[in-house]
This record gives sequence, C-alpha cells and structure tokens, in this order.
Amino acid sequence: MEYRFRILRFDPSTGEGPRFRDFLCEADGKTSVLEALTAIREEQDGTLAFRHSCREAVCGSCAMAINGRAELACRTLLGSVGDRTLVLEPLPSFDVRKDLVVDLEPFFEAYRKIEPFIEPGAPPEKGYRIGGREMDRITPFINCILCGCCHAACPVVSRDGRYPGPAALAKLYRFVADPRDRRPFDRWSAVNTETGAWGCDTVFRCNEVCPRDVRPADGISALRRKLIAGMIRKVLRLKR
Ligand code: SF4
Repeated sequence: MEYRFRILRFDPSTGEGPRFRDFLCEADGKTSVLEALTAIREEQDGTLAFRHSCREAVCGSCAMAINGRAELACRTLLGSVGDRTLVLEPLPSFDVRKDLVVDLEPFFEAYRKIEPFIEPGAPPEKGYRIGGREMDRITPFINCILCGCCHAACPVVSRDGRYPGPAALAKLYRFVADPRDRRPFDRWSAVNTETGAWGCDTVFRCNEVCPRDVRPADGISALRRKLIAGMIRKVLRLKR
C-alpha cells in the first residue's frame, strides 16, 4: 500500500520558514509511523530530523503530532490512522529545533522544579510499609515516561508559560502522596496558585493523549485535594 506523509519541514539555519513536504512510502498497515519515517530518511531524504530511541513506547522520545494529535510515532501503526495520508508536525507549544525535533527544555524545567524525588525523613525502625491502597494511588503517575504529549495537548500550557503542565503536576502528586515523602508542605504548596495546580482547565486533553494511561488530570485533581487538606491542617495547626 502506498502512504503519503506530509511532513512539516523547518531548518532555522536556512533562514526559510516552515513548509510541508510530501513523501510517498510503500508500507503495510502494521508498519509504525517511526519505521516509515526511518525508511523515508534512509531512502529519500537523509536530512529529515526526528527523535527516537527505544522503539517500544518506553523512552517517549518520538512524540510528535500525527494528524493533529500528540502521539508516539513508535506505537502508532499506519493501519490505525484510518487514512492513507498522514500529516506529521512537531509537538505544538514547543519551539522547533529542526523538522519534528522540538526544544523540550521548558517541559523538563517545570519537571525539575517540582523536585521529582522522594525526600524521606528518618526511616521507621522496621522499615517502610506501603499499603496496597497507597500504592494504587501513586502507581499510575509512576508510569509517566516524560514524552511531553500531555504538555503539547494542554490548552493552558499553550497560552500561559507559567503553568507547569500536566506531567509535572501529576508527578508532584506522585511524590507528596508517597507515605515515605516528608517534604515540608510550605515548600511543595508553592503550586497552590492560579497559575499552578489551580490553573488546570480540566478539559482532560492530557488524559486523552497520554500513551501510558497516566491520566495526569486525575493527578492534578488529587493534588488539589491534598493542597486543601494541607491548608486545613495548617490552619488547625495539626501535624502532617
Ligand atoms: Fe507522556 Fe503521559 Fe507522562 Fe504526559 S503523563 S509526559 S503524556 S507519559
């Protein structure tokens, strides 16, 4: 079968603006978009730029917009798209470095800001015991592969650079809901603002596009509940 790939090309070093270029590729429906892109680069245009690494939806590096939806190229099969023409564009809301490669630094900067690690207190004498219910609460957010699809799909990110984005906020919930974590409320509650946890429009685009079913919007809702509980505790001067 012949597929047409309409790819948005952009190379800032040329001084030219972005433009679409079409490539035809023979493939079957079980071929992934990443495999087709690799064939195009090897056989038709060696200058085509895109990121990839693991090829099995673990590294998250091949995220791009496929027919307008943020997706991983490695797990999108041509037969699943429902059209013989595929429009491939870089992830929206990011600056483009070249072709389908974007600058993910703002995404990782927001992620670093939430301090994505457990900050334990003194360990209990008999070690930590985490119950099944506590693990169920945080496990979905542990599965995030930092692909940036949710960030690209989020309407708040696209209009407000101060908003940390769904992945960073959901990951913050993952840590502050972990019973081992003892970071002070006053520090992590820095997201208790209109441009932080309360900035989310709850339109669930992040849940729709996440390739790992993380459901970051659910994490943001849980984070908000935790913030409210923390504020109440603070007012009543209760311990954590
Ligand atoms: Fe990707 Fe999902 Fe993590 Fe967002 S939450 S970065 S879409 S894996």
